[in-house]
Amino acid sequence: MENLASRELHEECGVVGFYGVDHAATHAFLALQALQHRGQQGCGIAALRPDGTIGLHKGAGLVKEVFGKEEIASLPGNACIGHVRYPTTNVGGQENLQPFLFTRKGCSFALAHNGNIVNADRVKSYLERRGHLFHSTSDSELFAYLVGTGVHGDDWEANICAAANLLDGAFATVILIDGVLYACRDKYGFRPLSLGRLGKGYVVASETCALETVGASFIRDVEPGELISIDRNGVHSSFHAHSCSRCMCSMELIYFARPDSVIEGCSVHGFRRLSGRLLQAEHPADADLVTCVPESSMSAAIGYAEAGGLPLEMGLLKNMYVARTFIQPTQSLRDVGVKMKLSPVRSIVRGKRVAVIDDSIVRGTTSRIIVQMLRDAGATAVHMRIASPPYAWPCFYGIDTGTREQLLAADRSVEEIRAFIGADSLEYLSVDALYKASGREQLCTACFDGKYPTELYQDND
Ligand code: AMP
Ligand code: SF4
Repeated sequence: MENLASRELHEECGVVGFYGVDHAATHAFLALQALQHRGQQGCGIAALRPDGTIGLHKGAGLVKEVFGKEEIASLPGNACIGHVRYPTTNVGGQENLQPFLFTRKGCSFALAHNGNIVNADRVKSYLERRGHLFHSTSDSELFAYLVGTGVHGDDWEANICAAANLLDGAFATVILIDGVLYACRDKYGFRPLSLGRLGKGYVVASETCALETVGASFIRDVEPGELISIDRNGVHSSFHAHSCSRCMCSMELIYFARPDSVIEGCSVHGFRRLSGRLLQAEHPADADLVTCVPESSMSAAIGYAEAGGLPLEMGLLKNMYVARTFIQPTQSLRDVGVKMKLSPVRSIVRGKRVAVIDDSIVRGTTSRIIVQMLRDAGATAVHMRIASPPYAWPCFYGIDTGTREQLLAADRSVEEIRAFIGADSLEYLSVDALYKASGREQLCTACFDGKYPTELYQDND
């Protein structure tokens, strides 16, 4: 069986669910656009039609490309689930686009999930040895199989609880089955999932920015290990796991989530701004101005500049129309991608000592090119400040950052990384400051310290 340590991981996505909301698919279309930053490879919506059947439309591309008037009109009804999927290096097949639609015991159901299940290979190979064939490489199919073949008959809540309990790892999952919308989170609470109210109905979404977009009011977060079901009687809560923790993915706060979202009570913009302030306190830079790497490090750069009493300038400009560069198959394509995406603003950086604030360094592609760009544009010094600790360990919970060999900080000192990217100085935020900025006592910081909250299932059978 595949060894997890050598595997590239995927499923970094966003989910939404609506219940009791007129034109649910139209609302899902808007909510998925608000979550577009969580995935651009493809998207889909599955809606409960008034006749009780489930309609599905999904395709490759951005939400606005996949859904036009006609597609949305084909999904009438007041309950639906939706999904946006992240582009990946080697598992990009259409068959992995979500939601998935299944029929079991005469009942159709749809499921979509965000995260990565660490014991999926183990559970799948057990089932395959017993004759079950899987159509995709997605963990969602496995989840759905376990729900559909659960031993509790038509008691879907019990079947979902049993499946969620068997699966280990990260998941925020929405399921539409038998006229009920279910939403659950893994027992560690890696991925965010919020519940909101819209008119007489309800919404669940990976991030609160999607609630805001559709005009829903935030009720609360779905708890780690919780399964909520929403039907005409309202919201009902149960737990699929008893010992739960609060290991929210710190990369959600650092990079992934939208700054206007609030994750478990923590404003993402507020967190980033404070981490920028703390970074400045830990590592001041001898600079004339501060610039961010647009857009993701803007909040941290604001904090760094205000704490250091330095002007925040637009030293780098982003071309909004270039696709994301991070997940490209080769290093040379990644290099070209960064150059197409970012340009230095010569009039601002010429003759200046520039402090560049980025949220993270993963392979080092972005930082190395930025440093060179700024020097070519006339900067007299480039000081890189990173608003997270060195990213040294691969993620097994759904953030696609590649294998350990690809991570620049895996086996290099800060000084070696500085030399690689060519900066005059390089400093990172400490893990302590990361916790302080979050105001939390628990977080997943495995990619920084190698302390994985789950077992890793290094299978060798
Ligand atoms: P790299 O160029 O490989 O060092 O990646 C770091 C850059 O990619 C930073 O500018 C981040 O904003 C961004 N980044 C960090 N994590 C991710 C991720 N999981 N997916 C896409 N981009 C990322
Ligand atoms: Fe997030 Fe890092 Fe933990 Fe993965 S390992 S869930 S990226 S904090």
